[in-house]
Amino acid sequence: MSPLRITVWNEFRHERTNEKVIQIYPKGIHEALAAPLREAGGFEVATATLDEPEHGLSDARLDATDVLLWWSHMANREVSDERARQVVDRVWKGMGLVVLHSGLLGKPFKLLMGTSGELKWREAHERELLWVTKPGHPVAEGLGDHFSIEAEEMYGEPFDVPEPEATVFISSFPGGEVFRSGCCWTRGAGKIFYFRPGHETYPTYYDKNVQRVIRNAVRWAAPAYRAQPVWGNCKAGWLDR
Ligand code: ZN
Repeated sequence: MSPLRITVWNEFRHERTNEKVIQIYPKGIHEALAAPLREAGGFEVATATLDEPEHGLSDARLDATDVLLWWSHMANREVSDERARQVVDRVWKGMGLVVLHSGLLGKPFKLLMGTSGELKWREAHERELLWVTKPGHPVAEGLGDHFSIEAEEMYGEPFDVPEPEATVFISSFPGGEVFRSGCCWTRGAGKIFYFRPGHETYPTYYDKNVQRVIRNAVRWAAPAYRAQPVWGNCKAGWLDR
């Protein structure tokens, strides 16, 4: 089987401006996400960042991507409408999309959901418990019934998204808040997975369970094949030809 072609997209701004984040992710969040996928094998992994021409998301790059990972936060508005629209177009055509943490307020995810993507949040160094709510789902493979992250940002409901087609994880936090932290949707021929953890001031993407979820999610979101739907005007009698 040919390797899945993965593009890890990251806005790459906090890691160049915030000392704390630079220490945790000296090569950028995209490299921290890419490294364990490269080690796992079976993936051909490229990275792309906001300040590259066309944000590193040219039509050619998107066409050569089976699954796109997306991390963004402070520069969500700087992503061009045109590039965001092209990401959406590729998802409709079957490209998988794995949206991480604050990427839920990025343009592609909001366009695909049709909602604000809003939520409650608090930065208070709190433990996150992620409960597997859909045992047997491919994204939860190998995780047992829950796992924890020692310190993370809190996200709380309501999470303004359409009802997920599957909710694979629900997180709970010491303040009593809960959050649907692993959610699946399809749009057109493409699969979308949202995964909550990954605030930039915590070393979350080095966590083995988090890396496993991302690896599982990439495999789940990959297109089984490229659909070639036929649209448009359909002449009468075509079946007899
Ligand atoms: Zn955050």
